[in-house]
Amino acid sequence: MNDDRFHVYDTTLRDGAQQEGLNLTVTDKLAIARHLDDLGVGFIEGGWPGANPKDTEFFRLAQTELDLKYAQLAAFGATRRAGTKAADDPLVAALRESGAPVVTLVAKSHDRHVELALRTTLQENLAMIRDTVSHLRAEGQRVFLDAEHFFDGYKSNPAYALEVLRTAAEAGASVIALCDTNGGMLPDELAEVVHVATGTSARIGIHCHDDTGCAVANTLAAVKAGATHVQGCANGYGERSGNANLFTVVANLQLKRGFDLVPRETLADMTRIAHAITEVTNVTPNSHAPYVGVSAFAHKAGLHASAIKVDPNLYQHIDPAEVGNDMRMLVSDMAGRASVELKGRELGYELSAETSRELVNRVKEMESRGYTFEAADASFELLLRDTVAGERKRHFEVESWRVIVERTRGGELVSEATVKLYAKGERIVATGEGNGPVNAMDRAVRLGLERLYPELAEVELIDFKVRILEGTHGTDAVTRVLVTSSDATTEWSTVGVDENIIEASWQALEQAVTYGLLRAGHIAG
Ligand SMILES: [Zn+2]
Repeated sequence: MNDDRFHVYDTTLRDGAQQEGLNLTVTDKLAIARHLDDLGVGFIEGGWPGANPKDTEFFRLAQTELDLKYAQLAAFGATRRAGTKAADDPLVAALRESGAPVVTLVAKSHDRHVELALRTTLQENLAMIRDTVSHLRAEGQRVFLDAEHFFDGYKSNPAYALEVLRTAAEAGASVIALCDTNGGMLPDELAEVVHVATGTSARIGIHCHDDTGCAVANTLAAVKAGATHVQGCANGYGERSGNANLFTVVANLQLKRGFDLVPRETLADMTRIAHAITEVTNVTPNSHAPYVGVSAFAHKAGLHASAIKVDPNLYQHIDPAEVGNDMRMLVSDMAGRASVELKGRELGYELSAETSRELVNRVKEMESRGYTFEAADASFELLLRDTVAGERKRHFEVESWRVIVERTRGGELVSEATVKLYAKGERIVATGEGNGPVNAMDRAVRLGLERLYPELAEVELIDFKVRILEGTHGTDAVTRVLVTSSDATTEWSTVGVDENIIEASWQALEQAVTYGLLRAGHIAG
């Protein structure tokens, strides 16, 4: 939202993109900007036009391709070079021509950085700030200033660090963001410095890195000390340990401190948005991320579960729906009957006491053999259905399967699988080829069943994880295989365990297909 009382300023596309392994195309950046706008942030920093051709292109395309509802774009850049005029500096020109309503100028506020990195005098650095800010203001842009290394600079030379802020404010900068560029600050000392800085006239902002694990805490401490502009990155992206996680900051300020930062309904979309951004960045989502992680509201212990049944709020700090997340019950060997009943309810089954007890026993027995249901909801649901029905009902029966792996003369490895099945009263023999045995089995099963169940064409295997579990009590090691499948709307995971990896894979695959058929509305039998 952009009512200017409090700024939520995202820097994923500039500072977040510095994360090791992250490589965003212009299309990726536009997609992320749309997601951030859907959340309702006030400002999206798009990059450094003029210094980086990709960013120049981003700002050019943004003018026609981004239709932002809440956010304004900010172009990032440096103050003019020493000994020139802002009006003549080509990099300042690129900021002017970016089309962004806001320019965020980075400036040195640490005396030693001015002398050693910028290699100019302290006075010239102030002149660079004054000249660049007032030039861009005169050209009609709103100017924010990122005071780089501000906290270290304040320790080194407090008078000069504050002089930088005053100079920028007098020249017309409307926000001065204090940057903990090295990320070494702790909340209490940071808050003291922020408090001093709020004495200068511009709005004070905060930009934290997570090198001490305190980026979010530092940001909250700065707000408490008077900052009214917070910077951060989606999912805490950023170089080294990352930047302050903007999602955590927003949720904390809005749900715990009563700030009205983004619309309620978009906050309730935060979990989806956080995951949608990971799809673009191709960074595996952190399942333990506060508020938006898959595990953020997941409960395991059996003792908790019985109380949760009485009142879920006893064991969660907020209602997960406020950020679009869900409470989940993990089915594990720590679980008792209560958590199995809750999990059943989550899946839409009211279980009798007797069925729950039987299910708990089956889960415990299977987990002792290496199964895990925490990451395999679909396998648990199939087990639950079998327990409720009292017998095994299947969409298809397996007569046999065979897999051949061949290394060809050309040195290529190819796999061929043949499956023999019974379905809808027919005997089916099907063969599939693939680059590995599991891939070949998967193709053979679908090829065999697709004629009878055309919906299977929508189902695909998207992930396959193998883990060798050490043998216990004198038994051999076993292999656990987790398979994740998807159709047009959702994903599900299934598990198989055996001493033989192919058999373990087969079990997971057979359940994956069965679950896919159940989802498509086919009743087994
Ligand atoms: Zn930074």
